[in-house]
Amino acid sequence: MTTPDTPTDPAAPYRITREPYYRPVGNEVELFTAAHARRMPVMLKGPTGCGKTRFVEAMAHKLGRPLITVACNEDMTASDLVGRFLLDRDGTRWQDGPLTTAARLGAICYLDEVVEARQDTVVVIHPLTDHRRVLPLDKKGELLHADPGFQLVISYNPGYQSLMKDLKPSTRQRFAALAFDYPEAEVEAEIIARETGCPRDTADKLVQIAHRARNLRGHGLDEGISTRLLVYAGQMIAEGVNPTLACTMTLVTPLTDDPDMHETLTSAVSTFF
Ligand code: ADP
Repeated sequence: MTTPDTPTDPAAPYRITREPYYRPVGNEVELFTAAHARRMPVMLKGPTGCGKTRFVEAMAHKLGRPLITVACNEDMTASDLVGRFLLDRDGTRWQDGPLTTAARLGAICYLDEVVEARQDTVVVIHPLTDHRRVLPLDKKGELLHADPGFQLVISYNPGYQSLMKDLKPSTRQRFAALAFDYPEAEVEAEIIARETGCPRDTADKLVQIAHRARNLRGHGLDEGISTRLLVYAGQMIAEGVNPTLACTMTLVTPLTDDPDMHETLTSAVSTFF
């Protein structure tokens, strides 16, 4: 219970109280820990649904830092990150954006899919990534010095890379990078069985289906079946759904609109179930 004598922790809403399950796949935990010790900005590169977000959650928990996540999109403006004046009954009131909140609280700020944001939005993070560690709140006339705990982390899916959507070198060169990919078969099956409660041999089959689909990347499929979709499949099967139906719903239909590709994926499923 909160009394006037016990000030509430403003970071409480952003603290991860339960330890997230994260199965390390290499030395990423040690490397991130060292980068965090120096508050180095870190970029997590890798395809969608391969564990980047789960990793940041687990690291925030392990390091005892609050975590503020922002899903970036092309409509996002600098004000959406930094903050803006709002009009209410009492006049105007400044409201911090998530980046500002993170800098004040000493949180890890995770900008998910940062290439989705426009370049003129992304540049607001630049002064936070060098030795100054400041965030100019121009509209408010404040120069915010980030709390010592603050760290910036971005995720980036190189698969979506195009000339129009790429990180500017001036942004890219401000980050150390950890490369993520779908875990190797044994580890991915372990994750799926653990996450979903489906039997291990079912998880092994799901991973083999995924490997077939991942070989089709660039041959009619933009992205392979992600670990996230395999988790969905395992969950449906653990709920008692027929495995073929579960796979169609979670591994085939979401991935393609093309009838031929649908057929190809369906036959991969029928090899195993
Ligand atoms: P991304 O952020 O890369 O798009 P997520 O971190 O959301 O992907 O991962 C999708 C899901 O895959 C997670 O919710 C989790 O169930 C599972 N997952 C992937 N990799 C791991 C891992 N190494 N340990 C535990 N769970 C994982």
